[in-house]
Order: sequence, then C-alpha cells, then structure tokens
Amino acid sequence: MEPIMHFIIPLLILLVVYPKVDKKLAVLLAFLALAPDLDFFIDFTHRYLFHSIFFPVILSSIILFFTKNMQVSLISFYYLMSHLVLDLTTGAIALFWPLYQRLIEVKISLDSWWHFEFDVITYPISRVREHMISRPSYYFTQEGIVVFLFLAAMLMIRYRKEISKFFKK
Ligand SMILES: [Zn+2]
Repeated sequence: MEPIMHFIIPLLILLVVYPKVDKKLAVLLAFLALAPDLDFFIDFTHRYLFHSIFFPVILSSIILFFTKNMQVSLISFYYLMSHLVLDLTTGAIALFWPLYQRLIEVKISLDSWWHFEFDVITYPISRVREHMISRPSYYFTQEGIVVFLFLAAMLMIRYRKEISKFFKK
C-alpha cells in the first residue's frame, strides 16, 4: 500500500475513535505509520525485516523508554501495527519473521455477486523479490491522489476562515 494511505487511514480512524487526542501529536506520530517501509531501502529485506510484528513491539518499547509516556508509546504501536494490517490485505508480508519465515497474505473480499472470500495464503520468503517485481511498489496510485485531493478540499473548507485571514494579512 502506498505511503499516503498508510498515513491518512490510521490517522483519520484515530481522530474519529479518540477525538480528545492531541491533534498535533496524532499527526506527528502518524509518520511512524510509514516507518515499516524503510526496509525497502535495505537490500532484500522488504516486507519482512520491518514488517514483522516484532518491529512495532520493539520500536514502541524504545519510544516508551525514551519518552516515559505510555500514551505516546501506545499511539506509536497503533500506527506501526496499522501498517502491517493494511499490508497484510494488500500484499504478502512476513508477519511473524523470524519465527515463521514465510510471507502471509490475507484475502478478504465481497464481490458484486455477494461472494465472500476469506483466504490466508503463505509464500516462501524467497519469493519476495519475484513478488515485488510482479507487483511494483507505488509512491502514488490514482486512489491515493484522489483521497489526497478530497482530504485537501475538505480541510480547505474546514479551515476556510483561517486561510482567508492568512491571505488578508
Ligand atoms: Zn509496507
């Protein structure tokens, strides 16, 4: 899944479910939802090194250690886990690496004939390169661009007074 969706989806869910959250903190920590994809830049580890369930556990523990703030640590954990959950259903990841060295993919869909599909498929980890070549990673797809423009339009409507004040100065 592309970065913009990894950023926006869990952020919006957090703001809806927990409206009292400090909004600046929620936006700032949402960048953590992009962190698992950094393994893309480490040769041959994409979709397992940082896409394992141990990455959110370890990283949010480190954050707790340094910030001594349970809320910050829990929100960090939530953002990191959201990445793995979204990736599980849009492509295969090695969720339990290194304990279980296979890529896992969850297929859930309901088509227009009302056929419900739920499948858990696993692949050998050696197929990650093949998988990536056949399905390239995107920085943006048309869905991402549309969602981004839609959100930008809604934010401009929401903050129209602030925006017009800014330009009147
Ligand atoms: Zn990912």
